[in-house]
Amino acid sequence: KGPDPSIPLINERMADVRHKILVLSGKGGVGKSTFTTNLAFALSLDDAVQVGIMDIDITGPSMPKMTGLEGETIHQSNTGWSPVYVSDNLGVMSVGFMLQNPDDAVIWRGPKKNGIIKQFLKDVDWGALDYLVVDTPPGTSDEHLSAVQYLKESGITGAVLVTTPQEISLQDVRKEIGFCRKVGVPIIGVVENMAGFVCPSCKHKSEIFAPTTGGAVKMCEDVGVPFLGSIPIDPRIGKSCDLGESYLDMYPGEAAYTAYMDVIASK
Ligand code: ADP
Repeated sequence: KGPDPSIPLINERMADVRHKILVLSGKGGVGKSTFTTNLAFALSLDDAVQVGIMDIDITGPSMPKMTGLEGETIHQSNTGWSPVYVSDNLGVMSVGFMLQNPDDAVIWRGPKKNGIIKQFLKDVDWGALDYLVVDTPPGTSDEHLSAVQYLKESGITGAVLVTTPQEISLQDVRKEIGFCRKVGVPIIGVVENMAGFVCPSCKHKSEIFAPTTGGAVKMCEDVGVPFLGSIPIDPRIGKSCDLGESYLDMYPGEAAYTAYMDVIASK
């Protein structure tokens, strides 16, 4: 088999993208997609910064709902597939836009997933982007390998790893770190999500995962990767995602807002 003819086309598209960031987690349900969404919203607060979200969680795409774009579909133009836009400087591409009904299950085998990821990278007309934030499925699977393979030549800026403070999640993040190192993806750092809960009425902070609080910081020290920060549990984060609204627009100045901004400022 000769070289994949798609690679030069992908490289050409990606030449216009300054930073490609993969968001990874070892486990599902730790808030990876929520973090991806808020990261993209936060980056796009600056109107001069062009941001794209590419959702390669093929079997469980959450981006259409989390960005308030459920029911939208992808349009074709003579320059390729157009992303669906949240605002002038934030576009989204997801397999979710291709489903007839958001409740439809996507049951695809590896090669078909591989094919759609290739198409997303080759055919989507993002224009010039400052950041392409890629939401991935939990763990390391076909989707991750495809993305890494197709972006190898054009280069991935790095991966952000999302975990909860629980040891069970941290353990899987160690595997993700191993994966990144094996395939040569730089690690931007680890974000600890759902770290502590401040009671809205009495303001007392409860460490929901008390026995392992601080575990993410220690794990980062142990394995030599940057710790980017902690995002508290805030039910309004879930609510804003369910509404497809930006938490950052809805609750500026709240603890989680500051935490998101700190994480971004840390890099
Ligand atoms: P993943 O992508 O890792 O599977 P999601 O981003 O879908 O996880 O998040 C799982 C659930 O947790 C969602 O209902 C989301 O709204 C909620 N959630 C995520 N982060 C937080 C947080 N910091 N505080 C409160 N709820 C959160």
